[in-house]
Amino acid sequence: MTRQPVIHVASVRKTYGRTVAVDEVSFDVQAGEIFGLIGPNGAGKTTTMECVDGLRVPDRGLIAVLGLDPKRDLYALQERIGVQLQEAQLQKRIKVREAVGLWASLYQKPVDGDRLIEQLGLGEKRNAWFMTLSGGQKQRLFIALALINDPELIFLDELTTGLDPQARRAIWDLVRGIRQRGKTFATEWPSSTTVASSTSALPPSSCNDTAPSGP
Ligand code: ATP
Repeated sequence: MTRQPVIHVASVRKTYGRTVAVDEVSFDVQAGEIFGLIGPNGAGKTTTMECVDGLRVPDRGLIAVLGLDPKRDLYALQERIGVQLQEAQLQKRIKVREAVGLWASLYQKPVDGDRLIEQLGLGEKRNAWFMTLSGGQKQRLFIALALINDPELIFLDELTTGLDPQARRAIWDLVRGIRQRGKTFATEWPSSTTVASSTSALPPSSCNDTAPSGP
């Protein structure tokens, strides 16, 4: 018996007005993978991932995530996935433990926030304001927020952009450790990377063509 993929994307197309952001994209992600969607700036990576995690609705094509339809089953899906937001910001003076507590209140079955803070190496920063965290510490906090509902599938968006090589390695070690606990990761990068266990590339030529004008 073949296992159902965690993410199934078939012939997805998404336009914004006359801009074709995603054109006939298909890929599968299996359980336990760190999957990377790669392509140059503007190739449609974020749009594709937003269609997969239910933030956007494709014009056509088929998407199934954990066996659910991201459009029809959005609320059920949100309980089971975690999303790290690109270039996310929080209030300058929200403390690490307050942010984790706030996120926990959004879910039916959150994990223990204090334990999560420890696991992410932020124990000493528990009472620190967001504005005082380093870039790497902020990324750790955003991973903690994405993990607060103990998701089966975690979306990471250019997670280590802007970090120095040491911080980047530390974050990826962290992700690999979480993956060993049976989680699946879906990520995106502008260029190829060695951290992914599988990748799918979006060719620049398939995107941003001008769509035929409507009737
Ligand atoms: P980057 O690597 O720069 O983050 P990306 O591969 O994630 O880029 P998208 O952000 O998905 O690419 O954008 C794909 C195309 O769709 C681009 O031409 C972009 O200008 C366009 N686009 C994205 N979001 C919108 C929107 N809300 N309205 C109109 N056009 C959009």
